[in-house]
Amino acid sequence: MHPVLDQLYKVLQLEIKDGYPNKAVIGGLPKMLSFWEPNARRAGFDPAFVDGIITRLRAYPDLAQADRPAAIQAMLAMLKEVEGAPTARPGPTTEPRAQPAQPPKRETTLAQPPAPKLQPPTRPAAPASPPAPLVKRETTEPEPPRPQLESAPPSSSSAPREAAAPSVAPSVDKPPAPAKLHAQRPRGDFTHFSEEPIDPRPRRATTPRPLKAEPPLNPNAALDAPLSVLYGIGPERLKDYQRLGLSTLRDVLLNFPRRYDNYATMRTINRLEYGEECSIIGTITDSRIRRFRGSERGALKVVLSDTTGAIELTFFNASHWLARALGADKQIVVAGRVQQYLGRLTMTNPDWEYLDRELLNAGRIAPVYRLTEGVTQHAMRKVAWQVVEHWARKQPDPLPAEMVARAGLLPYGETLFQIHFPDSEARREAAQHRLAFDELLLLQLGVLRQRQDWQSATARPLAITDEAFEAFLAALPYRLTDAQRRALADIRADLQRTVPMNRLLQGDVGSGKTVVAAAAMLVAVQAGAQAALMAPTSILAEQHYRSLSNLLQSAINNPQSEIRLLQGATPQSEKEEIYAGLRSGEIKIVVGTHALIEGPVEFADLGLAVVDEQHRFGVAQRAALRGKGANPHLLVMTATPIPRTLALTVYGDLDLSILDEAPPGRQPIQTFIRHANEREGGYAFIRRQVQQGRQAFIIFPLVEESEKIEAKAAVAEYDRLQREVFPELKLGLLHGRMKPDEKDDGMTRFRSGEFHILVSTSVVEVGVDVPNATVMLVEGANRFGLSQLHQFRGRVGRGEHPSFCLLVSDAPNPRQDERLTAMEQSQDGFVLAEKDLELRGPGDFLGTRQSGFAALRMAKLSDVQTIEKARREAQRLFETDPALALPEHRTIAENLARFWSPGAGDVS
Ligand code: ADP
Ligand code: MG
Repeated sequence: MHPVLDQLYKVLQLEIKDGYPNKAVIGGLPKMLSFWEPNARRAGFDPAFVDGIITRLRAYPDLAQADRPAAIQAMLAMLKEVEGAPTARPGPTTEPRAQPAQPPKRETTLAQPPAPKLQPPTRPAAPASPPAPLVKRETTEPEPPRPQLESAPPSSSSAPREAAAPSVAPSVDKPPAPAKLHAQRPRGDFTHFSEEPIDPRPRRATTPRPLKAEPPLNPNAALDAPLSVLYGIGPERLKDYQRLGLSTLRDVLLNFPRRYDNYATMRTINRLEYGEECSIIGTITDSRIRRFRGSERGALKVVLSDTTGAIELTFFNASHWLARALGADKQIVVAGRVQQYLGRLTMTNPDWEYLDRELLNAGRIAPVYRLTEGVTQHAMRKVAWQVVEHWARKQPDPLPAEMVARAGLLPYGETLFQIHFPDSEARREAAQHRLAFDELLLLQLGVLRQRQDWQSATARPLAITDEAFEAFLAALPYRLTDAQRRALADIRADLQRTVPMNRLLQGDVGSGKTVVAAAAMLVAVQAGAQAALMAPTSILAEQHYRSLSNLLQSAINNPQSEIRLLQGATPQSEKEEIYAGLRSGEIKIVVGTHALIEGPVEFADLGLAVVDEQHRFGVAQRAALRGKGANPHLLVMTATPIPRTLALTVYGDLDLSILDEAPPGRQPIQTFIRHANEREGGYAFIRRQVQQGRQAFIIFPLVEESEKIEAKAAVAEYDRLQREVFPELKLGLLHGRMKPDEKDDGMTRFRSGEFHILVSTSVVEVGVDVPNATVMLVEGANRFGLSQLHQFRGRVGRGEHPSFCLLVSDAPNPRQDERLTAMEQSQDGFVLAEKDLELRGPGDFLGTRQSGFAALRMAKLSDVQTIEKARREAQRLFETDPALALPEHRTIAENLARFWSPGAGDVS
């Protein structure tokens, strides 16, 4: 059956099977029209048939349950009828099964210049439209025509398309003879599918049934052919493409565009608006490079003009190549955000490419690929077109057809086509949605599998008597909040089981996670095991060491020798002593940094591993700590609140406890936005607070991507503040380049009240707890993410005094900054996290080193709907075939292995 019909058929069958709930497609049957209708029209089916199906599908949800079976039967009958009838063009029935019919404009072969509408031929004898004069030719070395390609028969039927296949990959996996592939299937053969059970296996471009004995054409093997089989790519060019990581046809097929140029929606220069993201077409009227002294590179200033005006573009770090490429008189298309400099509109480092008149005239959505020296956008598109046009739709779908239908997804082959050369915005979105779904499915499957692995291990149960536990609580200087009690009850229950605990303790800044961790560690120690706590910075490790020593003072016999701190800067002799104590079991609790997993650390009996600020660590580091014991229980803590759906996705392998209640007596933190030229008022405010006995933080943003420069800036600012602004006060300094003991010393003196103000870079971002500090002034607040700002603010408001946060922004209109106003309006970490997710995507929530997450390219973790859909499907799959052992799940299993392999996604 033609795939278009098949798709509909499967949905209808599924609907029958489930009892007509209108759920065979997620969101209801009419949802499938978004992809089915264009497919059906493209395939050239009788419009009356297509319209009839559309009407019936649209009406379906409103039908009474009793009327639905008849509606489905009516559609099946229509299917049956059209299946027997020839379509407008010699289409479906003469095509191999999985080959959708193509519109005439795509009826080209590899032997021919690609479709003229999209790609101007490069041969001098080219008809109609010469290549845009400014476009660099992609083939610099004269290349003789390739005999095997030239010998392909002329196109216009679908046969040569197949015939070209062997010549593309002459030596690889010889496909069956084309003639046999096109053996006609008996027409009107409708009966086979109404009796056949739904075949959930991915469709491949197999031969029709009468030829079952033939080996199937393996599109995967032929795709391994090197790029040099393509027209226009010689050995020299091949090297250029290889620099882009493109060696084979498959690489090209899977090299998705970075973005698209929609030639239909360009701006003229006189209509540009500040802040807008847009594209401009123009001619370069001036171009000059300003070199920095002694440097190869410099800033390239380019004036781009169109008939309505001119705009200056700046390309920083421009190479010679770029300067030449963007010489005067070139016609280019640029895309980027319109900025303002000295009152004039400008763009900085916009994306650019030479104007491709063909695309412009076609008014289509053109893919924009990553490039390298020697490969122009034009050439790249041409290469992509050759591969995509020929191979995309032949790719077997890795997902079972049922799942594709149920989730309302674009079929895989069509997706590959549309992601490169979309017919419309809607189709591009559908393709992106499909690819995102695939990634999220793998993500979810991996998470589910991790959970299963984890739960099949056996742990040592750890228990504490109620008396000992109550004694610990009674000795605390405060009463636990209800949320803390609930979390501890969860943890104690987990620890008593023989399945290792794997729990995430999530609580907003200042919600009191440390004491919960301390209690959990006490349970381990009372049960005779050891416990370890790992923190991301030495400042934090040191602070935890103090807190634990205090909190556990009365519960542990000899805190001095049984609780120890281990960090990189610990003197070697002391390290040796700690290693020995951990091996012998004499040390019960160790607090540390990465040093815990890096050095030759061995435990006598590690029963509980705690990881604080876990988003700062990768999965591997978490696993490394866990690996220091025999299936120890694991507690991870994070102060970065994660919206619930995301938490399930990201930490689906973890159980969740949430501290959603602040300790009592906390005063709300008042937050104010200030423009940079109002910062004097902020200083005055800090001074008044200090006079009342309080302390303050002043934070400096990351100036550059370099700690060194940042440290320098912080030192200079510290000097200035100490000498010119607060000569009468004592200021401390903290930055990332200081030695750990210098940092500790600075923190200790601040905590003890010796420093009134701590000037710091973002190193105090997490965990730092100094209850007497009441003012947090953040310079350059506009440069920080919301969740980071929330973390900074969490450094104050930790005691009984009213606290304040001043957000100083050097942007023109700080009070219109959405992030800053969100900070002003809410103190709820969850509300802010949702907002951040909406504004910036999930980058801040996830350690980028988490493999799996790093492999997400198309998926947005803010796309809650797709996440939920993928999660449902993953669960379904996992329930029926947890090992993915069924043949129809083989491709998924392979993809899963690749997706979660270490290093996957490291490139981006
Ligand atoms: P975070 O969750 O950010 O790690 P901490 O564990 O550092 O929070 O706790 C913040 C502050 O609140 C600490 O000074 C701690 O002593 C205090 N604290 C924790 N629990 C309570 C409570 N139940 N009542 C009062 N103060 C508490
Ligand atoms: Mg903390």
